[in-house]
Amino acid sequence: MKNTVLVTGGAKGIGKQICIDFARSGYNVCVNYNTSEKEAKLLENELNNEGLSISIYKADVSDRIQVDNMIDTIISRYGSIDVLVNNAGISEYSLFTDISEESFKRMLDIHLLGTFNCTQSVLKKYMINKKEGKIINISSIWGITGASCEVHYSTAKAGMIGFTKALAHELGPCNITVNVVAPGVIDTDMIATLTEEERKGIIDQIPLMRIGNTKDISGLVLFLASDKASYITGQVISPNGGMII
Ligand code: NAP
Repeated sequence: MKNTVLVTGGAKGIGKQICIDFARSGYNVCVNYNTSEKEAKLLENELNNEGLSISIYKADVSDRIQVDNMIDTIISRYGSIDVLVNNAGISEYSLFTDISEESFKRMLDIHLLGTFNCTQSVLKKYMINKKEGKIINISSIWGITGASCEVHYSTAKAGMIGFTKALAHELGPCNITVNVVAPGVIDTDMIATLTEEERKGIIDQIPLMRIGNTKDISGLVLFLASDKASYITGQVISPNGGMII
Protein backbone atom coordinates (compact mmCIF):
# COMPACT_ATOMS: atom_id res chain seq x y z
CA MET A 1 0.00 0.00 0.00
CA LYS A 2 1.20 3.53 -0.79
CA ASN A 3 2.18 5.83 2.06
CA THR A 4 0.18 9.03 2.44
CA VAL A 5 1.59 12.48 3.18
CA LEU A 6 -0.26 15.65 4.16
CA VAL A 7 1.53 18.91 3.37
CA THR A 8 0.01 22.08 4.83
CA GLY A 9 0.28 25.15 2.62
CA GLY A 10 1.15 22.80 -0.23
CA ALA A 11 -0.13 24.76 -3.23
CA LYS A 12 2.74 27.25 -3.42
CA GLY A 13 6.44 27.74 -2.85
CA ILE A 14 8.31 25.25 -0.67
CA GLY A 15 5.15 23.24 0.08
CA LYS A 16 4.39 22.81 -3.61
CA GLN A 17 7.86 21.41 -4.33
CA ILE A 18 7.51 19.05 -1.35
CA CYS A 19 4.19 17.82 -2.82
CA ILE A 20 5.78 17.27 -6.25
CA ASP A 21 8.75 15.35 -4.81
CA PHE A 22 6.54 13.10 -2.64
CA ALA A 23 4.14 12.41 -5.51
CA ARG A 24 7.00 11.47 -7.85
CA SER A 25 8.37 9.19 -5.11
CA GLY A 26 5.12 7.20 -5.03
CA TYR A 27 3.19 8.72 -2.11
CA ASN A 28 -0.49 9.62 -2.03
CA VAL A 29 -0.11 13.38 -1.66
CA CYS A 30 -2.72 15.44 0.18
CA VAL A 31 -2.28 19.14 -0.49
CA ASN A 32 -3.73 21.52 2.05
CA TYR A 33 -4.41 25.09 0.96
CA ASN A 34 -6.23 28.03 2.46
CA THR A 35 -6.57 30.86 -0.08
CA SER A 36 -4.68 29.48 -3.13
CA GLU A 37 -7.47 27.36 -4.61
CA LYS A 38 -6.47 28.12 -8.20
CA GLU A 39 -2.83 27.08 -7.59
CA ALA A 40 -3.98 23.95 -5.73
CA LYS A 41 -6.21 22.89 -8.63
CA LEU A 42 -3.44 23.54 -11.16
CA LEU A 43 -1.04 21.40 -9.13
CA GLU A 44 -3.65 18.66 -8.84
CA ASN A 45 -4.17 18.67 -12.62
CA GLU A 46 -0.44 18.75 -13.35
CA LEU A 47 0.33 15.74 -11.15
CA ASN A 48 -2.81 13.83 -12.14
CA ASN A 49 -1.69 14.21 -15.76
CA GLU A 50 1.57 12.50 -14.77
CA GLY A 51 -0.56 9.63 -13.40
CA LEU A 52 0.36 10.49 -9.80
CA SER A 53 -1.84 10.31 -6.70
CA ILE A 54 -2.79 13.74 -5.43
CA SER A 55 -5.82 15.38 -3.85
CA ILE A 56 -6.45 18.86 -2.44
CA TYR A 57 -8.10 20.04 0.80
CA LYS A 58 -9.10 23.54 1.82
CA ALA A 59 -8.56 24.33 5.51
CA ASP A 60 -7.21 27.18 7.60
CA VAL A 61 -4.70 25.39 9.83
CA SER A 62 -5.45 27.76 12.71
CA ASP A 63 -9.07 26.50 12.81
CA ARG A 64 -9.32 23.18 14.66
CA ILE A 65 -12.72 22.24 13.24
CA GLN A 66 -11.52 22.71 9.65
CA VAL A 67 -8.35 20.75 10.44
CA ASP A 68 -10.23 17.84 12.07
CA ASN A 69 -12.61 17.66 9.08
CA MET A 70 -9.66 17.61 6.66
CA ILE A 71 -7.86 14.85 8.59
CA ASP A 72 -11.07 12.74 8.80
CA THR A 73 -11.65 13.12 5.05
CA ILE A 74 -8.07 12.09 4.21
CA ILE A 75 -8.08 9.07 6.53
CA SER A 76 -11.43 7.87 5.17
CA ARG A 77 -10.08 8.21 1.62
CA TYR A 78 -6.59 6.69 1.99
CA GLY A 79 -6.78 4.83 5.33
CA SER A 80 -3.66 6.53 6.71
CA ILE A 81 -1.58 9.67 7.14
CA ASP A 82 1.98 8.37 7.45
CA VAL A 83 3.79 11.70 7.10
CA LEU A 84 2.70 15.17 8.18
CA VAL A 85 4.60 18.23 6.94
CA ASN A 86 3.65 21.39 8.87
CA ASN A 87 4.72 23.93 6.24
CA ALA A 88 1.94 26.58 6.24
CA GLY A 89 3.23 30.00 7.16
CA ILE A 90 3.13 33.75 6.68
CA SER A 91 5.76 36.44 7.07
CA GLU A 92 5.66 40.11 7.90
CA TYR A 93 8.43 42.66 8.13
CA SER A 94 7.79 45.23 10.84
CA LEU A 95 9.55 47.15 13.60
CA PHE A 96 8.74 45.53 16.94
CA THR A 97 7.09 48.72 18.18
CA ASP A 98 4.75 48.67 15.16
CA ILE A 99 3.55 45.07 15.54
CA SER A 100 -0.08 45.08 16.63
CA GLU A 101 -1.41 42.56 19.14
CA GLU A 102 -3.63 41.24 16.35
CA SER A 103 -0.75 40.60 13.98
CA PHE A 104 1.38 39.04 16.75
CA LYS A 105 -1.48 36.67 17.58
CA ARG A 106 -2.07 35.84 13.90
CA MET A 107 1.60 34.91 13.49
CA LEU A 108 1.39 32.54 16.46
CA ASP A 109 -2.00 31.20 15.36
CA ILE A 110 -0.85 30.15 11.90
CA HIS A 111 2.60 28.80 12.76
CA LEU A 112 2.19 27.47 16.28
CA LEU A 113 -1.52 26.78 16.79
CA GLY A 114 -1.63 25.50 13.19
CA THR A 115 1.21 23.06 13.90
CA PHE A 116 -0.46 22.05 17.18
CA ASN A 117 -3.85 21.51 15.48
CA CYS A 118 -2.59 19.41 12.57
CA THR A 119 -0.15 17.41 14.67
CA GLN A 120 -2.56 16.59 17.50
CA SER A 121 -5.33 15.71 15.08
CA VAL A 122 -3.16 13.33 13.02
CA LEU A 123 -1.71 11.75 16.17
CA LYS A 124 -5.08 11.15 17.82
CA LYS A 125 -6.86 10.00 14.70
CA TYR A 126 -4.12 7.78 13.27
CA MET A 127 -0.42 7.76 14.20
CA ILE A 128 -0.56 6.86 17.90
CA ASN A 129 -2.75 3.77 17.34
CA LYS A 130 -0.58 2.76 14.40
CA LYS A 131 2.64 3.36 16.43
CA GLU A 132 4.30 4.80 13.38
CA GLY A 133 4.68 8.20 11.76
CA LYS A 134 6.92 11.05 10.69
CA ILE A 135 6.23 14.68 11.53
CA ILE A 136 8.34 17.35 9.86
CA ASN A 137 7.96 20.98 10.91
CA ILE A 138 9.17 23.77 8.66
CA SER A 139 10.69 26.45 10.89
CA SER A 140 13.33 28.97 9.75
CA ILE A 141 16.87 30.10 10.48
CA TRP A 142 15.20 33.10 12.14
CA GLY A 143 13.75 30.71 14.71
CA ILE A 144 17.34 29.79 15.58
CA THR A 145 19.07 33.18 15.45
CA GLY A 146 16.19 35.68 15.61
CA ALA A 147 15.79 38.42 12.99
CA SER A 148 15.46 42.15 13.38
CA CYS A 149 12.03 43.46 12.30
CA GLU A 150 10.65 39.91 12.45
CA VAL A 151 10.22 39.42 16.18
CA HIS A 152 6.77 37.84 15.84
CA TYR A 153 7.92 35.55 12.99
CA SER A 154 11.10 34.59 14.87
CA THR A 155 9.08 33.91 18.03
CA ALA A 156 6.69 31.60 16.18
CA LYS A 157 9.50 29.76 14.38
CA ALA A 158 11.49 29.34 17.63
CA GLY A 159 8.30 27.99 19.22
CA MET A 160 8.10 25.33 16.52
CA ILE A 161 11.58 24.17 17.52
CA GLY A 162 10.64 23.84 21.21
CA PHE A 163 7.41 22.08 20.21
CA THR A 164 9.36 19.61 18.08
CA LYS A 165 11.97 18.78 20.70
CA ALA A 166 9.42 18.21 23.47
CA LEU A 167 7.16 16.12 21.25
CA ALA A 168 10.09 14.03 20.01
CA HIS A 169 10.79 13.03 23.63
CA GLU A 170 7.15 12.11 24.19
CA LEU A 171 6.57 10.24 20.92
CA GLY A 172 9.83 8.29 20.67
CA PRO A 173 8.36 5.28 22.50
CA CYS A 174 5.51 5.27 19.93
CA ASN A 175 8.03 5.02 17.07
CA ILE A 176 7.02 8.45 15.77
CA THR A 177 9.77 10.87 14.77
CA VAL A 178 9.44 14.65 14.91
CA ASN A 179 12.01 16.91 13.29
CA VAL A 180 12.50 20.49 12.18
CA VAL A 181 13.71 21.71 8.83
CA ALA A 182 14.84 25.32 9.28
CA PRO A 183 15.44 26.81 5.81
CA GLY A 184 17.63 29.80 5.11
CA VAL A 185 16.45 32.32 2.51
CA ILE A 186 14.52 30.49 -0.23
CA ASP A 187 13.21 31.90 -3.50
CA THR A 188 9.40 31.92 -3.12
CA ASP A 189 6.61 34.50 -2.90
CA MET A 190 7.64 34.99 0.72
CA ILE A 191 10.71 36.96 -0.36
CA ALA A 192 9.19 38.42 -3.55
CA THR A 193 9.19 41.96 -2.18
CA LEU A 194 12.98 42.06 -1.73
CA THR A 195 14.75 44.54 -4.01
CA GLU A 196 17.73 43.46 -6.15
CA GLU A 197 19.98 45.31 -3.72
CA GLU A 198 18.50 43.50 -0.73
CA ARG A 199 18.92 40.14 -2.50
CA LYS A 200 22.54 40.97 -3.21
CA GLY A 201 23.05 41.94 0.44
CA ILE A 202 21.68 38.54 1.49
CA ILE A 203 23.79 36.63 -1.05
CA ASP A 204 26.89 38.38 0.30
CA GLN A 205 26.19 36.68 3.66
CA ILE A 206 25.85 33.18 2.18
CA PRO A 207 29.05 31.11 1.77
CA LEU A 208 27.46 29.13 -1.09
CA MET A 209 26.80 32.49 -2.79
CA ARG A 210 23.18 32.00 -3.77
CA ILE A 211 19.65 32.21 -2.43
CA GLY A 212 18.19 28.74 -1.96
CA ASN A 213 15.54 27.16 -4.16
CA THR A 214 12.59 25.04 -3.13
CA LYS A 215 14.36 21.81 -4.15
CA ASP A 216 17.07 22.58 -1.59
CA ILE A 217 14.37 22.02 1.03
CA SER A 218 12.10 19.36 -0.49
CA GLY A 219 14.90 16.79 -0.86
CA LEU A 220 15.66 17.00 2.86
CA VAL A 221 11.99 16.67 3.80
CA LEU A 222 11.68 13.56 1.61
CA PHE A 223 14.78 12.10 3.27
CA LEU A 224 13.40 12.77 6.79
CA ALA A 225 10.20 10.96 5.82
CA SER A 226 12.12 7.92 4.56
CA ASP A 227 13.36 4.81 6.38
CA LYS A 228 16.89 6.16 5.95
CA ALA A 229 16.03 8.73 8.64
CA SER A 230 14.42 6.32 11.10
CA TYR A 231 17.02 7.05 13.85
CA ILE A 232 16.67 10.84 13.53
CA THR A 233 14.25 12.58 15.89
CA GLY A 234 14.08 15.89 17.74
CA GLN A 235 16.65 17.42 15.41
CA VAL A 236 16.85 20.82 13.75
CA ILE A 237 18.41 20.61 10.30
CA SER A 238 19.02 23.89 8.52
CA PRO A 239 19.62 24.00 4.76
CA ASN A 240 20.84 27.58 4.49
CA GLY A 241 23.89 27.65 2.22
CA GLY A 242 26.08 28.23 5.27
CA MET A 243 24.36 31.52 6.17
CA ILE A 244 24.44 30.38 9.79
CA ILE A 245 26.96 27.76 10.86
P1 NAP B 1 4.68 30.96 0.38
O1 NAP B 1 4.99 30.65 -1.03
O2 NAP B 1 4.14 32.30 0.75
O3 NAP B 1 3.71 29.83 0.93
C1 NAP B 1 3.10 29.91 2.19
C2 NAP B 1 2.05 28.83 2.26
O4 NAP B 1 1.47 28.84 3.57
C3 NAP B 1 0.95 29.03 1.24
O5 NAP B 1 0.74 27.82 0.55
C4 NAP B 1 -0.27 29.37 2.08
O6 NAP B 1 -1.48 28.81 1.62
C5 NAP B 1 0.08 28.67 3.39
N1 NAP B 1 -0.72 29.24 4.50
C6 NAP B 1 -0.61 30.48 5.04
N2 NAP B 1 -1.56 30.63 5.99
C7 NAP B 1 -2.27 29.46 6.04
C8 NAP B 1 -3.36 29.01 6.82
N3 NAP B 1 -3.92 29.77 7.77
N4 NAP B 1 -3.82 27.75 6.60
C9 NAP B 1 -3.27 26.96 5.64
N5 NAP B 1 -2.24 27.34 4.87
C10 NAP B 1 -1.74 28.58 5.07
O7 NAP B 1 5.99 30.81 1.30
P2 NAP B 1 7.11 29.68 1.39
O8 NAP B 1 8.39 30.38 1.32
O9 NAP B 1 6.83 28.53 0.50
O10 NAP B 1 6.90 29.25 2.92
C11 NAP B 1 6.65 27.90 3.33
C12 NAP B 1 7.17 27.72 4.74
O11 NAP B 1 8.59 27.89 4.76
C13 NAP B 1 6.63 28.76 5.73
O12 NAP B 1 6.36 28.14 6.97
C14 NAP B 1 7.77 29.74 5.89
O13 NAP B 1 7.73 30.41 7.11
C15 NAP B 1 8.96 28.80 5.77
N6 NAP B 1 10.22 29.46 5.40
C16 NAP B 1 10.33 30.14 4.23
C17 NAP B 1 11.54 30.75 3.92
C18 NAP B 1 11.76 31.53 2.66
O14 NAP B 1 12.78 32.24 2.57
N7 NAP B 1 10.90 31.44 1.66
C19 NAP B 1 12.62 30.63 4.81
C20 NAP B 1 12.47 29.91 5.98
C21 NAP B 1 11.26 29.32 6.26
P3 NAP B 1 -2.58 29.68 0.78
O15 NAP B 1 -1.78 30.47 -0.23
O16 NAP B 1 -3.45 28.62 0.20
O17 NAP B 1 -3.30 30.55 1.76
